[in-house]
Amino acid sequence: MLGELDAVGDVCSRAGCTAEPAWRVNWRNPRIHGIDRVKVWLACDEHRDWFDAYLTNRAFPVVVTPLDVTVERVP
Ligand SMILES: [Zn+2]
Repeated sequence: MLGELDAVGDVCSRAGCTAEPAWRVNWRNPRIHGIDRVKVWLACDEHRDWFDAYLTNRAFPVVVTPLDVTVERVP
């Protein structure tokens, strides 16, 4: 089921967390990433809000989607 996610791994991206992810945290750093660049972290249910807050606190654009939904851009 998670084979298509080989590039980013198949566990939650939070350090030390080995839970199965349920969400994609799509983000970019506007200072170094172009508008068409999308960085992706995977998040379990528990850490979804942690990633969202982490990026929002840095004023980085972030879009959280279900694991099987990809986005082309993070406005
Ligand atoms: Zn996690």
